[in-house]
Amino acid sequence: MSKAVVIGAGVAGLAASTRLAVQGWKVTVLEQAPEPGGKLREIRLGDYRFDAGPSLFTWPDLVLELDALVRSNHPDLPPFPFQQVDRSAHYFWPTGRRWIAWADPAARSESVDALWGPGTGERLERYLADSKAAFEATRPLFLESSLHERTTYSWERLKQVGRHLGRLPLLGRFHRRNSAYGLPDELVQFLDRYATYNGSDPMRAPAMLQVIPHLEHGMGTFFPEGGMVAITQHLLRLAERAGVRFELNTRAEAIEHNGQRVTGVRAGGRFFPGDLVVSNADIHPTYTRLLRDRVAPAATLERERSTSGLIFYWGVRRTFPSLHLHNLFFSADYAEEFDAIRRLGDPMEDPTVYVHISSKLEAGDASVGGENWFVLLNVAADPEHMTEERIAALKAATLKRVDAALREAGDLEPGEHVGDYIEVEDRLTPRDIEARTSSWRGALYGTSSNSPTAAFLRHRNRSTDLKGLYFCGGSVHPGGGIPLCLLSGKIVSDLVMENERVA
Ligand SMILES: Cc1cc2nc3c(=O)[nH]c(=O)nc-3n(C[C@H](O)[C@H](O)[C@H](O)COP(=O)(O)OP(=O)(O)OC[C@H]3O[C@@H](n4cnc5c(N)ncnc54)[C@H](O)[C@@H]3O)c2cc1C
Repeated sequence: MSKAVVIGAGVAGLAASTRLAVQGWKVTVLEQAPEPGGKLREIRLGDYRFDAGPSLFTWPDLVLELDALVRSNHPDLPPFPFQQVDRSAHYFWPTGRRWIAWADPAARSESVDALWGPGTGERLERYLADSKAAFEATRPLFLESSLHERTTYSWERLKQVGRHLGRLPLLGRFHRRNSAYGLPDELVQFLDRYATYNGSDPMRAPAMLQVIPHLEHGMGTFFPEGGMVAITQHLLRLAERAGVRFELNTRAEAIEHNGQRVTGVRAGGRFFPGDLVVSNADIHPTYTRLLRDRVAPAATLERERSTSGLIFYWGVRRTFPSLHLHNLFFSADYAEEFDAIRRLGDPMEDPTVYVHISSKLEAGDASVGGENWFVLLNVAADPEHMTEERIAALKAATLKRVDAALREAGDLEPGEHVGDYIEVEDRLTPRDIEARTSSWRGALYGTSSNSPTAAFLRHRNRSTDLKGLYFCGGSVHPGGGIPLCLLSGKIVSDLVMENERVA
């Protein structure tokens, strides 16, 4: 039986290994950590449970598609329960303005009109309709296929893009595009934030990122029963049922080859033979550590990284009625904030603060009467910058920002502080992210999309140097985030089907 070795059990590695096993490959996954999931794992602090990394779940059909693939032979598989959330987030601006972004388009539009004046809701919906058109047009070419194979450019796919060419935001920057719909500055900032969904800077990212809001506002925001980690648990279950074998606590040290074709992977003093090797490890260490004897694509490896994150996990011993599952406390000046991240490494005194509280939907995630706050700030993928001093300064700025907003919202009395209620705390820095998952510089989403050519310059999914070598995960095409990582696993499996023979 033909053997495949997958390096890394992140979302993409799990998806690729399951699909290859279904194709008939004998698959072994080597994972350096004691548990699968990579960035998508959980931590527990006292009576509180936290999803350590991703908190936003979109495009669940990609998980369901994998589920169906395995379930056809294993109908007894437990289901993957999740719910659609009735709103995407609660937004707070420094002016004191608050907005709930409802999932229902009519309710959303009405709430926008109520806050920003008649006609504003319609303009926002027009923007979102264009987002949908751009998403649908580019999806088969840019998201669901490899951009680097001649077979991708079929007449059908090109026709689909061509049909919508006039509506595609091909030129200019994302912020400029978002400003072109006559929306108030606060809603432009709300739209600009979608650049951070792949770790990019809204002022520099290309207008094409307009495809992103459709995922949340057109397709919906979802939440799995049991929290985000339930995605990892279900993907693992599917992989195991498909026959994938896992070697945990096993760090790959080298991808072995005969000069033309891969032969396997060396890990922990053992050799794992493979006719096929798929690296789900970040593309930078894949070349610099696992393929030391091959010429690395220097230009790709030197490309600007996406942002990283400074995350605080706070067990808070009270509840805040004005908050929901996803909450955004915007800074006063987004352009200045991203400029500070680029030049200085962090947003300094005025960060935009994202707070995810899974206990709003999963009461068991917090102690009785409490909430589990996952607090994320965008910072540069620069582990050296994040000193104890910077962390303390950013924590103080974060508390100041949320205190002000929650006082304004009536959740805190004058003189009360969120900090007074934190009973357990942990944190995750760019250095921790790099140490745990080998993501180069601790970037959350691989390379940034800060240039118009970014989509084309992400590393390809199939090696042109060694036969049988493939790449998946957030640092290669089509990019980071759970949905795109799942798609990269699918692209790899499609390419393997086209180019390899399984015996
Ligand atoms: C704080 C945070 C918040 C995020 N928020 C969101 C969100 O809300 N929504 C969203 O969609 N995405 C979010 N993301 C991004 C998302 O988590 C990632 O894009 C995705 O999980 C990456 O999956 P991956 O398959 O690329 O691999 P990773 O999760 O990076 O996993 C790679 C795996 O490979 C293993 N590995 C590496 N090198 C080796 C080796 N040599 N030998 C063996 N194993 C190795 C690692 O240990 C790891 O398990 C967030 C990420 C973080 C960190």
